[in-house]
Amino acid sequence: MTAPRTPPRHPVLDVRELTKVYGEGTAAVHALRGVSLDVAAGDYVAIMGSSGSGKSTLMNILGCLDVPSGGRYLLDGVDVGRLADRQLALVRNRLIGFVFQAFNLIPRTSALANVELPLAYAGVRAGARRRRALAALDAVGLADRAGHHPNQLSGGQQQRVAVARALVTEPALVLADEPTGNLDSRSTDDILAVLDQLNAAGRTIVLITHEPEVGARAGRLIRLFDGQVHSDVRQRPTGRHAAVGVPR
Ligand code: ADP
Ligand code: MG
Repeated sequence: MTAPRTPPRHPVLDVRELTKVYGEGTAAVHALRGVSLDVAAGDYVAIMGSSGSGKSTLMNILGCLDVPSGGRYLLDGVDVGRLADRQLALVRNRLIGFVFQAFNLIPRTSALANVELPLAYAGVRAGARRRRALAALDAVGLADRAGHHPNQLSGGQQQRVAVARALVTEPALVLADEPTGNLDSRSTDDILAVLDQLNAAGRTIVLITHEPEVGARAGRLIRLFDGQVHSDVRQRPTGRHAAVGVPR
């Protein structure tokens, strides 16, 4: 894995008074009611909340997959609200690595080729693509499975491939939506260990989960309730504030 980017001075996420309304008039649903938060480079944040509290809505906006009804969102210093769709797609590809609950790997295609894919979209040449994809697989402990197809891997291993794919472009932010939702407890432990390592190496991570043991591992735990931040608690130091000696 190449070294993470030098941490910028601005937060990776800077969200002010975000609102989201679905529908109109009497049918309007206020899914977000003024959410403000910022996430510094190198932080590891878990977002929890009961069903309907607005987690997916917030995640979709943070991931530039949807736009807010009001408020402001700066991603790595870029005002996302001012971008046209095409620019938004570029920002998404360049700045965010996604990990989904359902792995979303391409079947009958090697782990290596799956991880290379975002680099192919970005126009990286074959030699560099292969080298970087192998480094990303190595970072998640799967260098020896590069030639395996998804159906030859366990669920936990498939999700590690998906994490490698999210990392390979060196995104400013890794955004994970219920990344352990489909995994047994042992595979969940594997993924949490990988996320711990990535964060210790300086990666910024935001994940959604409904599992308390997953939320407990993050450096910071934000709880949503009814479209608002209900609590925002630092559980341990991360990033710049992490213990001396942690590789950055
Ligand atoms: P969570 O992910 O925490 O379960 P969501 O963000 O999915 O919550 O939903 C928040 C609220 O917005 C819920 O009341 C939900 O019914 C509503 N909602 C979500 N998506 C839509 C949509 N596309 N159209 C209308 N209402 C929606
Ligand atoms: Mg949801």
